[in-house]
Amino acid sequence: MPELPEVEVSRRGIAPHLENQQIADVVVRDRRLRWPIPEAVSTVVGATITRVERRAKYLIIHTTQGYLIVHLGMSGALRVVPTDTLVVKHDHIDLVLTSGWCLRFNDPRRFGCWLYSKQHPAVSHPLLAKLGPEPLTDTFNVEHLYSVSRGKQQAIKTFIMDNHVVVGVGNIYANESLFKAGINPKRAAGKISRARYERLVPIIKETLAKAIEQGGTTLQDFTQADGQPGYFKQELMVYGRGGKLCMQCGERLKEIRLGQRSTVYCTQCQR
Ligand SMILES: [Zn+2]
Repeated sequence: MPELPEVEVSRRGIAPHLENQQIADVVVRDRRLRWPIPEAVSTVVGATITRVERRAKYLIIHTTQGYLIVHLGMSGALRVVPTDTLVVKHDHIDLVLTSGWCLRFNDPRRFGCWLYSKQHPAVSHPLLAKLGPEPLTDTFNVEHLYSVSRGKQQAIKTFIMDNHVVVGVGNIYANESLFKAGINPKRAAGKISRARYERLVPIIKETLAKAIEQGGTTLQDFTQADGQPGYFKQELMVYGRGGKLCMQCGERLKEIRLGQRSTVYCTQCQR
């Protein structure tokens, strides 16, 4: 599943090809995504794209006639191709530009979405309005995490993966960040000291920023037909290593389910 870093790399990959371009047409081949693609997406025909923004794992395509909200779901991928490029299975929608190129969305599992909003959706749209701060901005800071956590019995791992608390900390990044911060993922969020949050917050930022950086260098060109964002290959200390030895102390890593998600940690290094 594309996580925040993959979505950000997608944004950086497609934005230069879209910004300041005029939309000639919207071609929908199959409306059946997570929600049916509304007829209203055609409102942007004739408009100029002014910006491609990311909020959590949503891409917001700003146009002079409203906003498109795009989510990659479980298996969605965006690429920019010449409009006459042969359509393949699961190419559900094209945003056709007057330049002769188009933004093409492929999604085999169809959990992605394409929606239209007349207003900027960050405050007005129900999918986006209740989201917590962006992890890579100053609005996500120690004070925020510490104050929101007070009184919470919830496990710290589940807490930092909650989109109302902070967006975009997916399972891999939560596992890795808690290992680096030396915090046991089962510990109650409300019982963790400010000093430990002071350690955790920059680690979460670094972990995500590093994934974006690696993605930017390893990912194929978004104008290539095979530009499929996947998980970035990066050195993982705990995720996917249950039962293997801790790279820091040599203890066998423990794997449990926490909030239905695979959780791997070291009982020695994480307290
Ligand atoms: Zn260890």
